[in-house]
Amino acid sequence: MQKNYVLTDGNSIPYLGYGTFRISDGSDVLNSVLHAFQTGYRCIDTATLYGNETGIGQAVKASRLERSEVFITTKVWNSDQGYEQTLLACRASLKRLSLRYVDLYLVHWPIAASFFDTWQAMELLHAHGRAKSIGVSNFGIEQLESLKTKAKHLPVVNQIEFHPQLQSPELVQYCQKNNILVQAWAPLARGEVQHIPEIQSMSEQLKCSPAQLTLAWMRARGIMPIPKSKTPARIDENYAIHSLSLSQDIVEKMNALDCGRRLGPEPSHFWA
Ligand code: NDP
Repeated sequence: MQKNYVLTDGNSIPYLGYGTFRISDGSDVLNSVLHAFQTGYRCIDTATLYGNETGIGQAVKASRLERSEVFITTKVWNSDQGYEQTLLACRASLKRLSLRYVDLYLVHWPIAASFFDTWQAMELLHAHGRAKSIGVSNFGIEQLESLKTKAKHLPVVNQIEFHPQLQSPELVQYCQKNNILVQAWAPLARGEVQHIPEIQSMSEQLKCSPAQLTLAWMRARGIMPIPKSKTPARIDENYAIHSLSLSQDIVEKMNALDCGRRLGPEPSHFWA
């Protein structure tokens, strides 16, 4: 069994999740998520944008796991933001997922014109039990501070691009100080961590893979990674980090790899 983080709303979330971006709906996502469940993952990350919520719902059903044993995250896409639109978007996601509630509902990107209204809808969805926890993604300090001025409940999660070469130390420190769990998207730098020489040499020393070292380092930092793989052997490899404990020296060497190298859009990309 995986260990959990406890969110500020009291809900638990596994230390490690399974990402599903660019896994097509239908048999692709069904088989991948079923394999992830068999391996031991219990937390699945999707989004309306990924177009695979239907297959994920089918995998939850086919797994025969109790609903309370799985943790499903989805996100409201940018063009669905606003008060009414967010309520409708959540209802549509739940329908595709064949679920009565999601465990975590995230605002995918901050949109300046609508993010207060969107957040009010998120709070209503939380109050009505449609989203057990609510959070954001790709929010910077500025947006989180703005949210603070009007929100009844602060986000319990901020899902951001985070990997050894992009560590956003100020934002991570801000989130951790405000008890917002940082989830790392692209935790393996989309597969590139295996080519970083320092990570190669440290992982050889530790007799693990570069991906495993990277994921274990995040756990040591109190950050929750959601690696994606469609390859069964890599799904297993990424999960098998539970016995890997890192020395402070290794943690610091990994910390030193930050060079601000972003792979995805700037967080302010949609903030117009
Ligand atoms: P990841 O860093 O998880 O990398 C995925 C890539 O790495 C795939 O090409 C995969 O290949 C490869 N890979 C996986 N495991 C290994 C391994 N052990 N060794 C070598 N290569 C490996 O990138 P993602 O962009 O997918 O991010 C993870 C998740 O984060 C997404 O799937 C999605 O759920 C979420 N996300 C959220 C965003 C947001 O804005 N909130 C934005 C982007 C992603 P293969 O599949 O062929 O095995």
